[in-house]
Amino acid sequence: MAICRACKQEIPDGATKCHLCQSHQKWYQSPLFLSQIFTLPMFIVLYFVILRPMYNKRDFEDYRDQFSVERVATTDSSDQHLTYRITNNTDYKWVDISFEITMKKGDELLSVENDQEYSWVIRPHGQSLVTAYINHPPDGADTFDFRITDMKTERY
Ligand SMILES: [Zn+2]
Repeated sequence: MAICRACKQEIPDGATKCHLCQSHQKWYQSPLFLSQIFTLPMFIVLYFVILRPMYNKRDFEDYRDQFSVERVATTDSSDQHLTYRITNNTDYKWVDISFEITMKKGDELLSVENDQEYSWVIRPHGQSLVTAYINHPPDGADTFDFRITDMKTERY
């Protein structure tokens, strides 16, 4: 005779289920185990959809020092097109740049414009161009300071 795992009563040798308390004698035959087997893939999905992207989300401010900006071209007309080359010295790919152009005449602040490019992408340790379109720049503006205000890392 064997002993039931649950009620500790004697049951026939080799019985897979106790005739007294209905307990399964092998852990893998238990309906509880079968229901738990499906919670594992659920946790894996949860991890990839929610936890990992949260962990991978980076704040641009923490990496600001690892970017450099260089003005490469200007189209001189009534509308200014200012092109800048951004260098990414981080190990991550960034997207969706937001930037700010501060226009000055000498030390006098004339205007600030904000813009963003959603389709913009920069590879790890790569370079990428961004163009700011200034419609009707203020008269006498001689300095156009470009400043990145934000960008985002990829989800994965
Ligand atoms: Zn039993």
